[in-house]
Amino acid sequence: MVSVDVLGSGSEVGRSSIVVSGGKRIVMDCGVKIQPEPPKYPTIEKVDAAVISHAHLDHVGAAPMLFRKGKMPVYMNDITLELGTMLVKDSMKVAQKEGFHVPFDKSHVKRMVKNTKIVRYNEKFRVGDFSCSLWHSGHIPGSSSVLIDSGKKIFYTADIQTRPSHLLEPCKLPAKVDTLILESTYGMKVQADRKKEEKRLIEAIEETISNDGVALMPVFAVGRAQEVMLILKDYMNKIALDGMVKLASEIVAQYGSYIKTPKEFRDMLKKVKFIRTNEERAAALKKYPIIIASAGMLGGGPAVHYLREMQSMREGKVLFSGFLVEDSPGRNLIETKIFENDEERFHVSGDLQQLELSAHADRNGLMDIVRRTRPERVICVHGDKCAEFAKDIEEEFKIQAFAPKNGESIRV
Ligand SMILES: [Zn+2]
Repeated sequence: MVSVDVLGSGSEVGRSSIVVSGGKRIVMDCGVKIQPEPPKYPTIEKVDAAVISHAHLDHVGAAPMLFRKGKMPVYMNDITLELGTMLVKDSMKVAQKEGFHVPFDKSHVKRMVKNTKIVRYNEKFRVGDFSCSLWHSGHIPGSSSVLIDSGKKIFYTADIQTRPSHLLEPCKLPAKVDTLILESTYGMKVQADRKKEEKRLIEAIEETISNDGVALMPVFAVGRAQEVMLILKDYMNKIALDGMVKLASEIVAQYGSYIKTPKEFRDMLKKVKFIRTNEERAAALKKYPIIIASAGMLGGGPAVHYLREMQSMREGKVLFSGFLVEDSPGRNLIETKIFENDEERFHVSGDLQQLELSAHADRNGLMDIVRRTRPERVICVHGDKCAEFAKDIEEEFKIQAFAPKNGESIRV
C-alpha cells in the first residue's frame, strides 16, 4: 500500500513537504513558510530519504531539520544544493536578527550537505522499491518535478511552468501517471499575457528613465531576478543589483547548463553594477535608474532600505514581478500604499505596480498538465484555493481530485 502524506503546503502556499510511503518513506521537499512572520515549519516525520525539488525557501528551507536525529540520503541536483545552502544560511541569519527561533543549527546544515547525493535530470535512483527521477520543471534554474515509480507512478510537479521564459525551457512531463501531486499557486487564476506584461515593464522603465526617477524591483533572488535581467537586457548599464540577488546570479552563471543562454547571461552580469558597500548603496539611487534587490515580498533585505529612501520620491516606482503571499509586507504595500514591518511603518507615494512575470504555470497551464499526464487522481497542494481548484478538476476531467490539509493522508 502506498500513501501520500501532506505535512506542509496543504491548502497553503509555503513549507512544502510531502511524504510518499510504501515500505520506505521518502519526503519530497522540506520547506519553511517565511511570510507572514513568524516563520512556520512543517511537522517532521522519520523518513528514509529526501528529495529537494528546487532552491526556494518554501521547498528547501526546513531540510536541515531532517538531520536533527539520524541521517538519510538527500537527492537533488548540484545547482539546487549550491543555491539552497546559500538560502538556508541566509535565512538563519535573518531569523536570528529578527529574534525568531530556528529549529536547526549550522551542524544540521553541514550534515545535510554531507548526505546530499547529486543527481541529474532523468537519472534514476532507488529508495527501497521506489524508482525515482527528477524532471526539468521550468520554474527556476535546476528546478525539478519528481517521478516516483513503484509499478504505479506518482508525479509531484513541485513548482512548475508550462511556458518558456527567457531563462528556461518549459517543463517536461511524463506521458501517463497514476497520481499527480499538482502545485496550485495559480489554480484559480489565468495570468495576463506574458508579452504584454513584459511590454508594461519596459514602458515603466522607459518612463522612469525619461523622468530621472528610480524603479525599484523587489525580487526573489533565485530565478526571478535573472529572468527580469534578461527582459531588461538593453538596460544593463543602468541596473544596480543588491542583496542575495548578486550571489544567486553568480551561481546561476556558474551552472550555465541549466539556463538557455549562459553566455549572454554571463556577458550581462559583467555590465550591471553589484552594490558591495554602504557608500555604494547610499549613492545607488542617484546613479542607477533601475534597482533590482531582494527580498521579493519585502520581508527584509536591501529592497526595504531602498523603499525607505524612496518613500517621498515622486518619480519613484516599485515594480513587483509576481506572486505576493497574503499578509506579506509586499502584498500589504500594494493594497494600502503603506509599508509595515515590526520596526517601521511608512507611506509610499510613488507608483506601485504588480506585473505578472510569474515562474508558475497559470490555471490553463495547470489544466494542461492534468490533460497531458492523464492521472487517475490529482492531489492539489501549494495554493490558497486548492479546494475550489480540485473541484474544477473533478468536473473537467471526471477523475478524483483532493485538496488535503496539512496532516492528511491519501491512499494512492
Ligand atoms: Zn519555487
